[in-house]
Amino acid sequence: MEEYDQALCAHYGKMLGLEEGWEVTSVDLSVEKMRLELAVGWVCSGAVCPECGTQCARHDFAPERRWRHLDAMGFETQIVSRTPRSGCEEHGILQMKVPWAGKHSRFTLAFEAFAIKVLLASRSVKSACELLKISWEAAHSIMERAVERGMDRRVLEKLETVGMDEKSFLRGQSYATVLYDLDAENTRVLEMMEGRDADTAELLWETVPEPIRESIKAVCLDMSGIYKDVAASMVPQAAVVHDRFHVSKHLNEAVDKVRRREAKILASEGDDRLKGARQLFLFNPENLPPDRVAEFDALKDSDLKAAKAWAIKESFRAFWQCRTMREAKGVFKKWYGWAIRCRLHEIKAVAKMLKRHLQGLLNFVRFPITNAVAEGFNSKIQAIKADARGFRNFLNYRTRVLFFCGKLDLFPFLTH
Ligand SMILES: [Zn+2]
Repeated sequence: MEEYDQALCAHYGKMLGLEEGWEVTSVDLSVEKMRLELAVGWVCSGAVCPECGTQCARHDFAPERRWRHLDAMGFETQIVSRTPRSGCEEHGILQMKVPWAGKHSRFTLAFEAFAIKVLLASRSVKSACELLKISWEAAHSIMERAVERGMDRRVLEKLETVGMDEKSFLRGQSYATVLYDLDAENTRVLEMMEGRDADTAELLWETVPEPIRESIKAVCLDMSGIYKDVAASMVPQAAVVHDRFHVSKHLNEAVDKVRRREAKILASEGDDRLKGARQLFLFNPENLPPDRVAEFDALKDSDLKAAKAWAIKESFRAFWQCRTMREAKGVFKKWYGWAIRCRLHEIKAVAKMLKRHLQGLLNFVRFPITNAVAEGFNSKIQAIKADARGFRNFLNYRTRVLFFCGKLDLFPFLTH
């Protein structure tokens, strides 16, 4: 029987890939609990100092600790061990490193690697937790370590086009500033910080090493001014490109204001043509619901103010198709002339704003970048936000965003 036990221990030892000095000393299988417990012991006489790696005397053994390991044939598997404490002459009494787990983790590296894969593939953290049979806190700590690992390893080699934008979190009560790498092959979130003021933007730029910052050719920003002023001092060589989706947003809002103003007037005259038409004016024409196409066709061809505003907004789309600066300048000039004479103050206000930011709009010809290219991870960020437990505070939110959108090398190195 003893021989059999020894063989069993050796078998599990091999499966764990234990380094020299460590051995499985007992195997405890509980069929009722569906649990496999592997006791692992340090079988050498001395110890190894975790600071300097020298062989030294063993002081004693630390209290028993447990690590969750990969399930074995559906049995939840745990490693139990009393880690020796080394008595190094130089570094004093320290707990030895164990080869199967990171410093503060309650999971083995192999389990963490598996958990990371499951988290990345799952639709929500909640469903990953269910699959892995771990708590939300445990999942979060695994993500935290993974992001830390990934950020430590990340070496920024070059950045050509980046974007800076604000994002709201905590149900819109708090804001963060996000820095994106807009490289077409490798769009990712580089870093984010809490707040949306000039100081935050400056600190965020400082997270990019100076030589890399100097290589940036273009930066995509909204038209609000704060980020632009900071970019002018932090990346003075970079061309500012205004985000086309912000431009669309301003134009859409202006159309909506015109429509609302007009709807009130019409309603007071008993004309309800604009009632319930809000969405029709906000849809891109190609996305209109088929059953409402006729209704909208009639509205947009009418002599309503809302129809005129909508037509002006729509015609701005041609600007983004321009291939040369000259063409873009021509298209803008013509559009501006129309918009500024339209007698709709909401539209005129946006037209003036666009003219003030014309250089940043024209730069789109040279650098057709937008922060919404990050569409893929914008939807991921939305999903992260929907998972409400995920971010009671900013750091949790950052961990989630970098875990899912940072394209980091998250996995621990496995020796086995
Ligand atoms: Zn030492």
